[in-house]
Amino acid sequence: MKLVLLGPPGAGKGTQAASIVEKYNVPHISTGDIFRKNLKEGTKLGLEAKGFMDRGELVPDSLVVDIVIDRLSNDDVVNGYLLDGFPRTVVQAESLNEYLEKNEDSLDFVLNIKVDPNVLVERAVGRRICKNCGATYHVKFNQPKVEGICDKCGGQLYQRADDNEETVANRIKVYMDETSPLIDYYSKKKLLIDIDGQKDIMEVFTDIVRILGE
Ligand SMILES: [Zn+2]
Repeated sequence: MKLVLLGPPGAGKGTQAASIVEKYNVPHISTGDIFRKNLKEGTKLGLEAKGFMDRGELVPDSLVVDIVIDRLSNDDVVNGYLLDGFPRTVVQAESLNEYLEKNEDSLDFVLNIKVDPNVLVERAVGRRICKNCGATYHVKFNQPKVEGICDKCGGQLYQRADDNEETVANRIKVYMDETSPLIDYYSKKKLLIDIDGQKDIMEVFTDIVRILGE
């Protein structure tokens, strides 16, 4: 099972990714994680990436692709994988496609978790986090028993500074602008499957399983 998971910030991608990798026994390949690992271990690719980051530049597509493909050559991907955070651009998607074709391989699905931007804003703006244990709540959808207090540890709840309407709306717009060409690309390749991310978390996963198979 070779999958790509797409979805805007706040669409519940992390939760679904965790359920998918558990059920289908495939590694979760998150670009953030493999970058951190390469940087930490000081690999050749990591050092190259660090050079760009230190200069405040974007890591070029070609290097991002090299880092992901390096990860895809590990033994643990025999059952497939779930790519998260990659590809991010059409250039990256084309490189991935080339790599797969060279290995007479292909992706099975590109899952696109869709949530209305207004709903994403509402979700983010109402989010409250425990200062002590990091548990998350929502002023409307997941209220603590006592307002402002964590159910689990009694800690104080706070709102993250970047969970305000303007920042969130902007974060979503950036994502949409960046991702729409990618969505077109996979749609034309008949790999794209839209998932309704506005349903309950469990229902979303049930829909995903219906598509991927038991
Ligand atoms: Zn707490």
